[in-house]
Amino acid sequence: MQQFAMIEFTNSEKVSACSIAFRVKKCSVGFVPTMGALHQGHLALIRKAKKENDKVICSIFVNPLQFNNQKDFETYPNTLSRDLQLLKEENCDVVFLPEKEDLYGESPILKFDFGGIGKVMEGEKRPGHFDGMAAVVKRFLEVVQPTRAYFGEKDFQQLTIIKWLNNTFQLQAEIIGCKTIRETNGLALSSRNLLLTAEELEVAPLLYQTLRYCNSQYKKIPVTQLQEECIHRLNEKFRVEYFLIVDEETLQPIKNWRDSAKPRAFVVAHLGAVRLIDNLALID
Ligand code: AMP
Repeated sequence: MQQFAMIEFTNSEKVSACSIAFRVKKCSVGFVPTMGALHQGHLALIRKAKKENDKVICSIFVNPLQFNNQKDFETYPNTLSRDLQLLKEENCDVVFLPEKEDLYGESPILKFDFGGIGKVMEGEKRPGHFDGMAAVVKRFLEVVQPTRAYFGEKDFQQLTIIKWLNNTFQLQAEIIGCKTIRETNGLALSSRNLLLTAEELEVAPLLYQTLRYCNSQYKKIPVTQLQEECIHRLNEKFRVEYFLIVDEETLQPIKNWRDSAKPRAFVVAHLGAVRLIDNLALID
């Protein structure tokens, strides 16, 4: 396979200068932030960014600020040399591998008031997670100043928060949401899937099957009854943290189907030591 030279930076000033140089040459810049352990979901973001921009910058940074659980941070998969190879094969132009000191500098950890979108689901269950994620994404968008930045719908609430961040701080990027890439059995690709045992991998597709079941019952049975049924189905194999049907814009839970023109089901469930997350838009 033909490979292009990919520039590697660990320093934010250098990546910033490189991105400015691209834009001076009238090249649009697509940016894909990741935490590494790359899979086809990440690569789909890179491919979309390649298609829609002249240059693509990908970052790999396991952001300690967004882990509210130290064990989760310590066990987060690291496959750096493979990641770099995959990025080269996708003809990614620049990879940014920042040091945490360089990224945060002297500045204190930021706290944000996201309003309602930050108070539910992950915001409620993982205190500080969105503050840590947003602090780093804000810094990335300031350093890279991309034309467009790409994020997966798999982390739909994160995507909503990033759109808010971009608007609130006028970060000038176009935020592009990308559909969730799944295994043929429906399991959403995730770096954390690497931590599942063979038996757990057999059970894991039930998460998406339950979201599909939820969609099949859209408007047919009451919202709360449907949520309870889905939790009941999942509880046979998983430990469910939440299963909620919310409005896609406000992310507020709905009680009746008439409360939202665009409902979406969100689930977090644990399989052994692994916390899995997924969501699905409900459509007729
Ligand atoms: P992560 O490395 O998990 O922080 O993810 C980096 C980016 O890839 C985020 O915008 C994620 O939402 C996105 N992503 C992760 N998994 C998938 C997937 N299965 N399909 C599409 N995007 C994904």
